[in-house]
Amino acid sequence: MSTASPIADALLPWYRENRRPLPWRDTRDPYAIWLSEVILQQTRVDQGRAYWHRFMERYPTVQDLAAASEDEVLRLWQGLGYYSRARNLRTAARQVVAEHGGRFPADHAALLGLKGVGDYTASAIASICFGIPEPVLDGNVYRVLARVFGIATPIDSTAGRKEFRALAAELIPTDHPGDHNQAMMELGATVCAPRDPDCDACPLVRRCVAHARGNMTEYPVKAGRTKIRKRHFNYLIIPAGDGLILQKRQGRDIWQGLYEPPLIETARAIGERTLLQELRTILPGGKEIRGRSPRIKHILSHQHIQAVFWHIDADLGGQVPASWEQVGKAALEGRALPRLIERYLQEDALLKGA
Ligand code: SF4
Repeated sequence: MSTASPIADALLPWYRENRRPLPWRDTRDPYAIWLSEVILQQTRVDQGRAYWHRFMERYPTVQDLAAASEDEVLRLWQGLGYYSRARNLRTAARQVVAEHGGRFPADHAALLGLKGVGDYTASAIASICFGIPEPVLDGNVYRVLARVFGIATPIDSTAGRKEFRALAAELIPTDHPGDHNQAMMELGATVCAPRDPDCDACPLVRRCVAHARGNMTEYPVKAGRTKIRKRHFNYLIIPAGDGLILQKRQGRDIWQGLYEPPLIETARAIGERTLLQELRTILPGGKEIRGRSPRIKHILSHQHIQAVFWHIDADLGGQVPASWEQVGKAALEGRALPRLIERYLQEDALLKGA
């Protein structure tokens, strides 16, 4: 075994014995690996596994995914969040077909040219599928490296990213670089946990600086926390036919391309009077507030949303915004909705036909 470091020597046998049996680990097909990496970027393995199967069944090849419509892909992605990943997935599939003859390029730089593929995903595909020794750095790897080497450089700084990447590149073996990368990530995911690392079960325990110092949870160091944006969403539930009015979200914002009821976003929580004033600017015809939901808190990684669903009876005979679309109950199934909206509509008596 020509490994590059004692760390790799200790990690590989541990990985081969302890790795979780995940479906994408039985293949070197770049399409299947790429799909798993994109899905798992912000998703737990349990949840991601079901989506991976769903995508592989519906689109068994990159050509199938490239031929799908954006609405269809978003619908299949529904519930996973970070929807730009789904849009990028389809765009990158089209790139692979149009620019690379339907085959993923066996080259780190060329992989980076695919939409939504950053250093992490390019390195994962390059090392796992093509045996190229490119290090993969995700949150798990940063944590393991910071602890094993006792590195206090903040991982969210330019200097930190550089230092950790150089170290990871030094450690990666030239044979089995894909297994090595996966071993690092697996160790962070299953043993070297953020709050309570199981050092007794760790193959690196004898080499771990943080363990020797007893300050494991002080690593990795982060420079600053991202500011949380607070938003107030007032959704208008307007019955139309046996369904309701929806519109497609536009612009560079959360949930781009997904469907939602008409939205009035305000700087702070509002009452009926203010809502009616706002409504007048959108709907000149008759309208009446029939009721409202309690305030619902929906938490995203960098945004906290307070949502209220206002039930409105409105005269839709007059002028209504061009973006509004009447969507019947049956057609609702085919629309990709943000989780917040999907949950509310499932509870809503209007759509249960009560
Ligand atoms: S010894 Fe403990 S802290 Fe160090 S890498 Fe292993 S699990 Fe993490």
